[in-house]
Amino acid sequence: MCQSVLRDPAFFALLLRIDQEHAAEVRLGRCACGGPLHQANYERKPHGGPGSSGVDTLRLSFCCGNCRRRCTPESVRFLGRRVYWGAIVLLATALCSGLNLRRGHQLSEQLGVPVRTIRRWREWWLTGFTASALWLDLKGRFLPPIAASELPGALLGRTIAAGDADALTLVMRWIAPLSTITEGR
Ligand SMILES: [Zn+2]
Repeated sequence: MCQSVLRDPAFFALLLRIDQEHAAEVRLGRCACGGPLHQANYERKPHGGPGSSGVDTLRLSFCCGNCRRRCTPESVRFLGRRVYWGAIVLLATALCSGLNLRRGHQLSEQLGVPVRTIRRWREWWLTGFTASALWLDLKGRFLPPIAASELPGALLGRTIAAGDADALTLVMRWIAPLSTITEGR
């Protein structure tokens, strides 16, 4: 798998369309209080990716017209409050795990993500992610089972995908429920 997909605006446009379709479904519903949902998107400034030009960085979100509670749909673009695009959190950790120090530093430079940040993400995949209800449910789908130490690269390896962009998109769909609940520093 190659990191060039992270510079491809078409890949981010595809992820945006998935988020838009999901948000449209959420909007058809109502707030838990019964009130109507109004569009209340907010701006994010995600790091990495193809740069801000031409790439939509709005987090799709709604606000209840009655109780004002915010309702933010799942996203395949953002992973919680992390300042990087979710696909970068996924691919950078997968590519860098198991590399020697020198190669790891090279790749971190190419990706524009500090080594310590990638280490922190890896720590999260091994602890926070594996402790999540989502993973407890997801891991049962894989045979042979995926060892925690192989995350997140093994997820990409288990997709039946036409290419890198497809594989990343599929895994982002699998982990999208985490996009609204993880703090992720
Ligand atoms: Zn409400």
